[in-house]
Amino acid sequence: MKENSEVKIDRKIGRDDLIVIAGAGGFIAGALTRYFHELGYTRIRAIDRKPLPEWYQRVPGVECLSLDLSEKQHAIRAVEGAAEVYNLAADMGGMGFIEHFRVECLRSILVNTHLIDAAWRAGAQRYFFSSSACAYNTDLQRDPNVRALKESDAYPAMAERGYGWEKLISEMFCQEYWAERGLETHMARFHNIYGPHGTWFGGREKAPAALSRKVIEAIDSGATTIDIWGDGSQTRSFCFIDDCVLGIDQMMHCDRLISTPINLGSSELIAIDDLARMVEEIGGVKLQHTYDLDAPKGVAGRNSDNTFIKSVLDWEPHTPLRTGMEKTYAWIAQQYADRKAGKRVVKD
Ligand code: NAD
Repeated sequence: MKENSEVKIDRKIGRDDLIVIAGAGGFIAGALTRYFHELGYTRIRAIDRKPLPEWYQRVPGVECLSLDLSEKQHAIRAVEGAAEVYNLAADMGGMGFIEHFRVECLRSILVNTHLIDAAWRAGAQRYFFSSSACAYNTDLQRDPNVRALKESDAYPAMAERGYGWEKLISEMFCQEYWAERGLETHMARFHNIYGPHGTWFGGREKAPAALSRKVIEAIDSGATTIDIWGDGSQTRSFCFIDDCVLGIDQMMHCDRLISTPINLGSSELIAIDDLARMVEEIGGVKLQHTYDLDAPKGVAGRNSDNTFIKSVLDWEPHTPLRTGMEKTYAWIAQQYADRKAGKRVVKD
């Protein structure tokens, strides 16, 4: 992938056109808000249902509204005057959340359903939806040495229960709003995005943050073991947040990707046990692993096939996993120290 400064993107919007970012009190949309602000876009409206003090990031100069987008009237208010709408609002978390709260995950369908309709009625030029690798057929992910998933592997469909089916149906809404109503839609299937300013405790955190926190806790308490969910052989790929936001920008402004779901992830596959070892190395400690075979662990293996995105956008994650994990670990270590000192920290 090229460096950020080398990528030329024809965004077809002016610096003062309104960009609406939903879910901006959370991890990815918070980073996306900062990204567009730093690029010089002057009118950004950030939306989240969380009260403002609970947002992970608040970017100075950005309009921040606390609205529940599963309510039709709030969705209409959110997109008033919007040139572009980015929907990253969803009730979600790591496997611990999505295996136990399938109803909450499914109910995110209300957010996309209201928001895309409101965006179309408001005359928005472009609409982005954050889909997931969980939309892929789970039958193809039974082996840790999994074949990387390409875009056509979503059908015939057998998505992750709850969360994955919501993503698949919302993708279909995006495709039909383009086909029948002419709203330009773009969809990314994210594969495990990680980095600073994400959830790191409380039950919604994902493996990179959870393992970082466990290692930091062990160092702090003098414990010699950490528990790993599953037998540690399950494999995943992880994509650093800076690469993710650049990828979103590129795919949103690419005509070839209108109405076309596309992978946005890394193809650097790693077993969860090895990820834990990497985090221990970063923390300068070696711990014993105990395996909780009853804990949620998701599919046996999942990787992103980046052939399509490379061919269309020349995009691939720039940040090696080790580098991204060092940044993530350092941020969580600071959060941990802040929490211990009684300061306010990012939660869920
Ligand atoms: P996050 O939980 O940090 O952020 C999502 C935000 O959406 C939260 O702040 C939440 O309060 C908000 N939200 C939920 N329901 C809402 C509603 N009704 N109205 C307004 N706001 C609402 O999650 P994230 O990791 O930043 O994920 C962003 C998007 O990317 C989600 O759609 C998620 O499903 C998708 N995704 C993320 C990953 C990942 O690895 N992080 C992987 C695949 C897909």
